[in-house]
Amino acid sequence: MEKALGSMAFNYRIAKEQEREIVYFNGKINEDAEVTLAELDDKVGTSCTFNLRDIAGINSLGVRVWINFIRSFEEGRTIQLEECTPEIVNQMNMIPNFRGHCDIQSVYASYACENCGAEKLQLFKVGENMPTSLGTKTLPRVPCPKCGAPMEMEELEDEFFGWLTLQ
Ligand SMILES: [Zn+2]
Repeated sequence: MEKALGSMAFNYRIAKEQEREIVYFNGKINEDAEVTLAELDDKVGTSCTFNLRDIAGINSLGVRVWINFIRSFEEGRTIQLEECTPEIVNQMNMIPNFRGHCDIQSVYASYACENCGAEKLQLFKVGENMPTSLGTKTLPRVPCPKCGAPMEMEELEDEFFGWLTLQ
């Protein structure tokens, strides 16, 4: 059952969308997430997607909890990660075990406008606008939603997409 709305406690809900089983996570991943994650083993089949857009943060103990979870949960399963937040992408780049063997379907990058200061998250999806390798320099222009000027990615592109080389 879902915990109180607005709570930052780590939680999830499972949805069936077309043929896909999607686990929507929300809240912060910390040491307390371990118990919640352990529930999933009995609730999710052999193929599923983890949607990470509402992960509000992860601390160092949470990283350890997550890595241990993925290591055991992915045995016998095919897992896709979608809508990974910039913070999650950062973890994937620093710690290869963070994603295990999960397929990355989409990631959010932070963009800022040097002209007016606006910020936005831009989604990159496999098969659409996700680069297939590093250094291709074919990332699409991201126009500022406020003033139309081209926005800049806040991370270095090759660092942000560094996980591509680990696939
Ligand atoms: Zn702007």
